[in-house]
Formats: sequence, C-alpha cells, structure tokens
Amino acid sequence: MTINHKKTMQTKPLRFLCSLCSIAITTWFSHAAETSHQTPNIIVILADDVGWGDAGCYGATKVKTPHIDRLAREGQRFLDGHASAACCTPTRYSLITGQYSWRQNAMGLNKGVAAGDSPLLISPSMTTAPGLLKQAGYQTAMIGKWHLGFGVDRPDYNGELHPGPLEIGFHEFFGIPATNDRIPTVFVRNHRVVGLDASDPIHVSYDKEEAQKLGLSPFAAGRNRIGWGKGGKSAWWKDADIADTHMRECIQFLERNQNRKFFLMFTPHDVHAPTIPHPRFAGSSGLGNRTDMLHELDASIGAILQTLDRLNLAKDTLVIYSSDNGAYVTDEKDHKPNGPYRGKKSQLWEGGHRVPFITRWLGHISSGERKELVSTIDIPATICGAAGVKLPQNALPDSYNLFPSLRGETNAPMRDHLVVMSGTGHLALRSGNWKYMPNLNLADGWQAGKNKQDAPARPALYDLAKDPGESQNLFSQQVQVAKKMADLLEKTRAQPVTRPQ
Ligand code: CA
Repeated sequence: MTINHKKTMQTKPLRFLCSLCSIAITTWFSHAAETSHQTPNIIVILADDVGWGDAGCYGATKVKTPHIDRLAREGQRFLDGHASAACCTPTRYSLITGQYSWRQNAMGLNKGVAAGDSPLLISPSMTTAPGLLKQAGYQTAMIGKWHLGFGVDRPDYNGELHPGPLEIGFHEFFGIPATNDRIPTVFVRNHRVVGLDASDPIHVSYDKEEAQKLGLSPFAAGRNRIGWGKGGKSAWWKDADIADTHMRECIQFLERNQNRKFFLMFTPHDVHAPTIPHPRFAGSSGLGNRTDMLHELDASIGAILQTLDRLNLAKDTLVIYSSDNGAYVTDEKDHKPNGPYRGKKSQLWEGGHRVPFITRWLGHISSGERKELVSTIDIPATICGAAGVKLPQNALPDSYNLFPSLRGETNAPMRDHLVVMSGTGHLALRSGNWKYMPNLNLADGWQAGKNKQDAPARPALYDLAKDPGESQNLFSQQVQVAKKMADLLEKTRAQPVTRPQ
C-alpha cells in the first residue's frame, strides 16, 4: 500500500506535467498548422511628414540617410507606396485597424486630425493588428506619437488615460499624446502622464470659449502650440529631446523582449513641426531644421538596427518603414522632399500621400525594387500574415496581406486599386497608372480656398506613367477610363470589405 501510495504521489506531478506538455504541443501544432514559415519579430516604423524624396535611397543627395538606405539595400524598396491619407490621424487609424478611415464618421478620421483632447478614435471592440498579434503570443508595444485620442468622452490627463493604446491591442505604450505642436506637451506611459505633480494639474481644451473661461494659454514647454492648456509643468517635454527619449524606450523594449516574440510599432515625431532637432543634429544638413530632423530620424532608425544586430535578432525580425503622409514643403534649396511629385501634406496630389515604403527581413525576403501599388493600410494584414495569424472574417477589412508577395510568391494577390484621402476628407482613386479625382477643386487639401470648395465639381484624370507630376488632366480625352475609375471609387465606398478573403 505504501509503495502504491508513493507511486501515486510520484505519478501525479508527472501526469500534470505531461498534460501541460500535451496542451503546449497541441497549441504549438495548431499555431504551426497555419504557418508554413518561421514567424518573425516585427518592427513597424512610421515616420511623421516624411516625403517620398526624403531619403538617399529615393534619390535625395543633400540629406544623408545611411540607415534608411541600409534598410532599402537589404530589403525591398517600393516606388509606388502610399499613406492611406494625406495627414496624420487617419493614416494611423488605418495602420492599426486595416480599415479606410473615411468609413468612420468622426472628426480626425473622415477629415482633419485629432485634437489633443480627442476621445479614443478606435473602438476597443474592433479587431486590430496589435490585438491579433497579442493573441498570437507577441509582446506588443507602441512607442512614439499616438494621435488617436484617449478616454470615452475626453482624456483625463490627471488620472487614468483609459481607454487608450492598451485597450486596443498593445501591452505597453510610451509616447506623446497627439503631435509635437499640440497641447499637452507631456509624455504618457501606459495610462498615466509621466512626471506629473498632482499639485499642478493639467487642463486642456481645444474650444476657444472654454479655454478663455478657464484662463488657458497656447503657451507650453517654451513656445506657442495648437490648443490651450494650463498646468503640468513638471511633466513638460523638451522638444529637442523627444527623439532620443523615444529611441531609448525602443531599445529598452528590444532588450527586455529579446528572448520572446515581439511587435514594436515605433512612430517617431520626426519630422513634424515644430522642427527642433537635438543640438547634435542642428545645422547638419545645411538646409534647415526639417532636414536636420531627417538626420535625427535616420539616427534613431540606425540605433534600432544596431540594437537588432547586437542582440543577434536581425535575421529574426521583419522591419517595415514608411511615413504617415507626404512632406509639407515641396522645395528646400536643392532638396525635393516629395521627389518629382506634385503637392504636399493634406493634398490629393501624389506629394500628399506617396511615401517611402521599405520592408526588410534578412535571409527571408529578397532585396530589390518593387513597382506595385502598396499602402500603409496594407501593413496590418501583412504583419498578421508574417505572424501566421489567420484573419477573422471581415477583420482588417481594407488591408491586403503583402507577405506572400514579399516572400516571392508570384501569384500572391496584390491590390489593383487604392483609395487615398486628403486632409479635408476628399477622396481620389489610384488604379494601374491612372489617378482619378472626382473634384479637382479640392485637390489642394487644407490649402483649397472656400471659393474653390463651393465651385462646381471638375473631375480629373491623370496618367502617372506619362505624367507623374499630374499636369495634364485627361478627363475629357479618356472618358471610358474616367467612367470606370468613378464607378470603382463608388463601389469601393459602398463595399465595407475590400481585401481578398
Ligand atoms: Ca503626419
């Protein structure tokens, strides 16, 4: 009896361990069953207001971007990559949800950008790419500019900033709430403002009347900003240190998670206004602060790539680099921020939304130049594809999984059309070489005057293969093509899901 009892005592933990092993093996197989490849760590870097021509690998000669160029050399450089919108918030929404932002009826998504007192613009009930990666076992972090709001009605900067990034799929968040030119000028970690002194609470308003009533001021952290605020002085950032602060957080995240699968979304504030580079970059381009900030951006990306090298993770990590919209200037002496493309940030012209788009996974995706039409809205399905995550039906509804194509599958579905949105919520359609705008009067985005908006609509059609600068409106000559494009735009607007299922 004694022996039997002892046997029982010994076998119980063994059985328990075996059943644990069996669960682990079953889980591994069920995950492996969907994945025919090794799944990588994932880093998505989305720069701010960086144009197509703002890197050496896209033709720039006056600014030096050795680390972005290295990514391009070791990966795939897309020539026809687009932000899904020509300004910050809508592109960032689509980057996380895979849904065209204009399908949502909220300020900041169907036009304009979010204010610094915006509620969270992504419903926590929505399926998101970070949420799917989290479910698949990835440690998920968002570091950098958020600009998608906090809270249900408005953010509580003195209490819990809830819901926010942590409620839509990220395990951790560190960064700036909106833009570097918007109040409040503080860093947030997870649900709290960093370094806030409770005796000097933060007040924020984007309503002039309310701001006046509360005695709020546009002055914060050394200069005037957009919005009005008061208090929180102990938490104010120093503009010139924002890039280094974000970079340090990224490196620490990589070091902490080097032995597990991770997803890092890094959204630098470079090169959004106010352009205040760290003193070690000031004057480095000889062209001005914005291009000095490009050097700062490149150095941050270099620090991340060097960290991957140091931790021996470069061959285990897919890196994607792009920008949230085109540059807001078109000419800086001998430098053309948007390359040969017409227009700038907020506009429907190519310069508003055609951006750098680079993918690298050393040893797993070949290097080279790609001419296919791709967009930042494709990043969510692509990273889920890389992670072997099977998308739930209708999840990430407008996002194409580029991963099979990145891996060299020749028959992989690529997008044959793309809708892009201006900063004023107006749409244009790309398909093949063609670009269609229902109303040319609105192409200038935030710069389109009211008289233009009230004028009768003038449709426009451009052949970008022959006319990349969009100077010849072919609408009257190419009536059939224009009609096809107009119909496709209407169909895309009406269809809630456009990705291949
Ligand atoms: Ca931007």
